[in-house]
Amino acid sequence: MKKIVVISGKGGTGKTMVTGALSDLMGKKVIVDCDVDAANLHLLLKPRLKERYAFVGGKKASIDKSLCTQCGLCHSLCRFDAVKLDGNAFSIDSLNCEGCGLCFHACPLHAITMKDHVDGEWFISETVYGSFVHAKLGIGEGNSGKLVSLIRQKAEEIAVQEKADWLLIDGSPGIGCPVIAATVNTDLAIVVTEPTLSGIHDFQRVFKLLEQLKISVKVIINKYDLNTENAQKIEKFCSSKQLGRVLKLPYAKEVPLAIMHGIPITQYASDSPVVRALHNFVVNEI
Ligand code: SF4
Ligand code: SF4
Repeated sequence: MKKIVVISGKGGTGKTMVTGALSDLMGKKVIVDCDVDAANLHLLLKPRLKERYAFVGGKKASIDKSLCTQCGLCHSLCRFDAVKLDGNAFSIDSLNCEGCGLCFHACPLHAITMKDHVDGEWFISETVYGSFVHAKLGIGEGNSGKLVSLIRQKAEEIAVQEKADWLLIDGSPGIGCPVIAATVNTDLAIVVTEPTLSGIHDFQRVFKLLEQLKISVKVIINKYDLNTENAQKIEKFCSSKQLGRVLKLPYAKEVPLAIMHGIPITQYASDSPVVRALHNFVVNEI
């Protein structure tokens, strides 16, 4: 099984459009949406939910008021301002609590316990393009790297069970922890970028990360014809790094229309030059 991750240096480059099209164009595969902070691949793939699980990302402190003598020690120790004084009773603000456990260990009355905290949910679904693992992180919740690792591992297990040829991973923008969790130990990273100055900068940043992780790279410049000069700069950079042929997708008005209709571009306009280019890319480059 070959593991392919689609990432971008920044948001809004057309990464999900590309992943949606690859979901349709590639052979037997399992798809996983590791862009858990802004998951939206499900909007294109229309999954039928099969299984749903809570994601416990960590623990939060909780005070048993019947044991607490209001000594205030936890309040003075907590560096995250998570212990609140309400009248003369102490309580934990779970949004601020980082789960470090300092108050739990310090409380002389053992009035504090550390409880599992549900940060979000993850799902196993069916789509017409293959099995799909995806997730939803609660608003303001952290631990996205941990959630990415979890759903990626589940997707890999399903891919092995189903004897899939591919694991197709939709990664998140940027170079943070969730991107590393989605990208590490993959066979190929497809980087989707755009011909803008910020696109060039963010692409070079993510490329540096991929170099460190020793992952093969293919590059797609989306809407390259909106600024051919900048597109050439990206191609020149890729050539200096011996990245092989860069796929240049033209601007096509059917792309936003497909997204508006909530279907992959391959299903909306199969004769689009974007679809033809991506089809050739799948056949010849991956
Ligand atoms: S350290 Fe324990 S006893 Fe003291 S205020 Fe906090 S919870 Fe209450
Ligand atoms: S677990 Fe850590 S962050 Fe949470 S309330 Fe206790 S000391 Fe503060």
